[in-house]
Amino acid sequence: MKRSICIVGAGIVGCASAYELAREGHDVVLLDAAPGPGTGCSFANGAQLSYGYVEPLASPATLRALPHLLMQRGSSVRFLPTRDWRQYAWALRFLAACRTARVQAGTRRLLELSFLSRDTLTRWLRDGAWPIDVARNGKLVLCPDEATMARQREQMRFQATLGCEQEALGIDACLQKEPALLPAVRRAPKAFVGGIWTAGDATVDSHSLCLALAGRFESMGGLARFGTRVIGFATREGRVRAVRTSDGEIPCDALVLAAGSAAAQLAQALGEYLPVYPIRGYSLTLPMAAGVPAPRASVTDLGRKTVFAPLGGALRVAAAAEIGGHGLDVPRWRIDQLRAAAAAMYPGSVDVHADGRPWSGLRPATPDSIPIIRRARRYANAFYNVGQGALGLTLAAGSAVLLARLVSGRPHER
Ligand SMILES: Cc1cc2nc3c(=O)[nH]c(=O)nc-3n(C[C@H](O)[C@H](O)[C@H](O)COP(=O)(O)OP(=O)(O)OC[C@H]3O[C@@H](n4cnc5c(N)ncnc54)[C@H](O)[C@@H]3O)c2cc1C
Repeated sequence: MKRSICIVGAGIVGCASAYELAREGHDVVLLDAAPGPGTGCSFANGAQLSYGYVEPLASPATLRALPHLLMQRGSSVRFLPTRDWRQYAWALRFLAACRTARVQAGTRRLLELSFLSRDTLTRWLRDGAWPIDVARNGKLVLCPDEATMARQREQMRFQATLGCEQEALGIDACLQKEPALLPAVRRAPKAFVGGIWTAGDATVDSHSLCLALAGRFESMGGLARFGTRVIGFATREGRVRAVRTSDGEIPCDALVLAAGSAAAQLAQALGEYLPVYPIRGYSLTLPMAAGVPAPRASVTDLGRKTVFAPLGGALRVAAAAEIGGHGLDVPRWRIDQLRAAAAAMYPGSVDVHADGRPWSGLRPATPDSIPIIRRARRYANAFYNVGQGALGLTLAAGSAVLLARLVSGRPHER
């Protein structure tokens, strides 16, 4: 049945949801407080379509490493206490999720969702010409020591039972996959001992994908209203009747909250606590130097906890996980860390002195890394599509399909 659906949030998750629901024939209004699509966390993230590397952040290994990570000066992981009770409620749930059984169950669900995302994006891209470049050049997860390599091999073997195709490689094989790492290995032969290669992983600029999805959605008759802040909901008899915005009320048959890290606050207006809390991270986008072999694959360096993704003539460098409120400031020392990581990983290949458009974003994280894609508890026609955390770009397409099945009254096919 055709319905009029309001989606709150035009990040990658909201744009993908709007596109999929419009494809299904619904009348969709996409609302965002920002002046255009993808200007929040979906703007300059790590750009990795990381279909094979989805292990939840909360794990026994994270728990073991946590004291060291939290005490270390300049650590990639920080807990900055605020007066918000939600921060502590989230942290307690995170600690409770650090159990092997939950990690395995979480990996299983996230892999299913990532495979659905991969297949969905492929299907979408077959439909006409898209003004984006999805580079399917694979991804290397580099391990700094044998203990990390052993743990990654173990995870790889577990994921193989779930249909994930990966290879464990020594240094020489890593260099065959990504020759642009050769100068780094010559300089620091012990910087890593090997890595896990996922040939099916890809890269895409997240902001460009948001613009493309929103453009397609509008060309199908969807209505996008930017500069429109949602401030509440008009409800009656267990249903949301309209969305209250800075521009007045918009009636709807159904509501979808896809507001990223702001979703928890909006869900309160629906009488619900959502365990979604922001985890801040940073990025730089540095131009490649001319005349040297450019990186092709994306790389996650587990030693420096930094991701690298080639995007056309530039290299996206992203890192850090800070749990400490909704601020978006970008400290100079964080950016210096990113520059140093790029200089060490690709010496001579990138211009580390360029401005690099320093950026920060708030990952909408759930304690167990599993997105919340479900109906609201108190309102039969309200739905959530939030909490994709560190993998929103990767999981957006699949999340949109699961959401559309729910909204259209079809059960999850799993
Ligand atoms: C440093 C960093 C690196 C990352 N790297 C990767 C990566 O390599 N691969 C990957 O898959 N993921 C990555 N991520 C995660 C990914 O960026 C996020 O999961 C994703 O962007 C979340 O998308 P979203 O649509 O849920 O949220 P957002 O993009 O934040 O969108 C939410 C939207 O809701 C709007 N909104 C909020 N409140 C209101 C309101 N009241 N009224 C109207 N509009 C509202 C906001 O304006 C915003 O546009 C990274 C994140 C960071 C920070």
